[in-house]
Amino acid sequence: MSETDMQTAVDDMLAKLMKEGIADKGDYIDNDTGLLMCGKCHTKKQTLVKLMGHTMKPSCLCRCKAEELEKEKQKREARELMEGISRLKSAGLQDKTFFGYTFANCDETHPCARYAHRYVGHFGEFQKNGQGLLLWGNVGTGKTFLAGCIANALMEKNIPVLMTSFPKLLNALGGIYSGEKNEYLKSLNRYQLLIIDDLGVERDTPYVLETVYLVIDERYKSGKPFIITTNLSLEELQNPADLEHGRIYDRIMERCVPVAFSGKNYRTGKGRTNMENASGILKA
Ligand SMILES: [Zn+2]
Repeated sequence: MSETDMQTAVDDMLAKLMKEGIADKGDYIDNDTGLLMCGKCHTKKQTLVKLMGHTMKPSCLCRCKAEELEKEKQKREARELMEGISRLKSAGLQDKTFFGYTFANCDETHPCARYAHRYVGHFGEFQKNGQGLLLWGNVGTGKTFLAGCIANALMEKNIPVLMTSFPKLLNALGGIYSGEKNEYLKSLNRYQLLIIDDLGVERDTPYVLETVYLVIDERYKSGKPFIITTNLSLEELQNPADLEHGRIYDRIMERCVPVAFSGKNYRTGKGRTNMENASGILKA
């Protein structure tokens, strides 16, 4: 074959490969191997396969194409993660203001901020032990804000959290047939963390108390952690007025590490060994 014929054969092959969408403008055939090469990164776009006496040249990814695809894949995964997180947040944050309660907006000098950070950082351990937090203290000390920071930070790690309040739960339960209430309460267990804001602001009727008890008891039985914020004092929680309040508070005290919103970390006699351990992690 003359050199001109050879060149024509190569040109024909390139034209054919371009028509098939395998070769791009600027690509060329390597003189030694006869394989299609990328005009940009100068790596192979074909490999040589010998099978039962036949030589085949299946196409493969050149380096720049492989890198481009990898980048697209990473972008797609990041986008899917972001979409997943915003779905989690719309489902998990029952109050629009909670969206803004993030560590990015947090005054890090708040004495309880580090407890919130530690809870997020060690969530796996708290989860394993079914341990939550009891954020208690006066109005306006940042309990709800820090609970929201925990919720947002965990959801940013793709962990489902529900942040709600007893009035909201009571409202939801009020519209459900009594036979389905149990199912609704159990459905809350699909959230890895349940945060109930402002215990104690709900009306103090037998129906409300019973419902609050059912919510807490279902979570307690599931072994999954919950966080409670309340304006009630630790003393009020430890010395309930009656049995109805007592059985609610007992379960909370057993599972939730009390964090006083005055900067100190208080400990309770109930479930002490467990709590020693948990407050160790919080304070470490
Ligand atoms: Zn290339």
